[in-house]
Amino acid sequence: MKLTIVGMAGSFAAPSSPASCYLVQADDAAGRTWSLVLDLGNGSLGALQQVVDPFAVDAVAISHMHPDHFADLCGYYVFLKYHPERGSEVDGSRTAVPLYGPAEAERRLADSYGLPDGETMTGQFDFRTWTPGSAAQVGPFTIEPVAVEHPIPAYGVRVTGPSTLVPGTSATLAYTGDTDVCDGVYALAESADVLLAEAAFVEGRDEACGIHLTGRRAGQVATKAGAARLLLTHVPAWNDPAVSVAEAQAVYDGPVEVVEQGRSYLL
Ligand SMILES: [Zn+2]
Ligand SMILES: [Zn+2]
Repeated sequence: MKLTIVGMAGSFAAPSSPASCYLVQADDAAGRTWSLVLDLGNGSLGALQQVVDPFAVDAVAISHMHPDHFADLCGYYVFLKYHPERGSEVDGSRTAVPLYGPAEAERRLADSYGLPDGETMTGQFDFRTWTPGSAAQVGPFTIEPVAVEHPIPAYGVRVTGPSTLVPGTSATLAYTGDTDVCDGVYALAESADVLLAEAAFVEGRDEACGIHLTGRRAGQVATKAGAARLLLTHVPAWNDPAVSVAEAQAVYDGPVEVVEQGRSYLL
């Protein structure tokens, strides 16, 4: 399975990257490639088009309804509805894209776009509410939401699929979304092959609790959960990525780096 970083900027789009968006792809036994998008933050729909046809996305999973994680669903709705040849307005046979997310996703999206009262995006998105402990299947992927700690309802997502590095076995990607340290994030990261962890905060600078991880806290989670590799993301443009890496390395012995926009990582 392949993870491509569509957007890794934390909290707002950076000069060098859109906000949060990750493309996870794997082939099933018949050789069909499946594409799962984790979050679609502001600016990411443009970069997403560089790596996948938006009509070929099999499902979207949204960690929580902050704009840096969901805002470009508004543009994606326009694309799916009004594309002059393939949009749902001209192609009535087109099915809605499965959209996993918090219970508030359907209403929040309609409000964000300014749809008329009572109208939602159900023609373009098939809304499926996250239920912790309940896994969903997207082609060869099993996706499981884990409730985490953030000021609004928020979920980390565990994605298990066929391993590319060790064919014949499965691999697990654990994506934190936005969270502080909590029981949920440890469960999420348990024995993951890759822990894709946000590191928006910096030790000694950001004292607020219950919002974000630092590089150090992400490293502590990776160590305690036994994650094999730590990829730091959601790093705001005002941070120095080297600081986040150094914080994590002080408490985690495995490989750690800040992800690069546009780069792919194999699991
Ligand atoms: Zn965020
Ligand atoms: Zn957030």
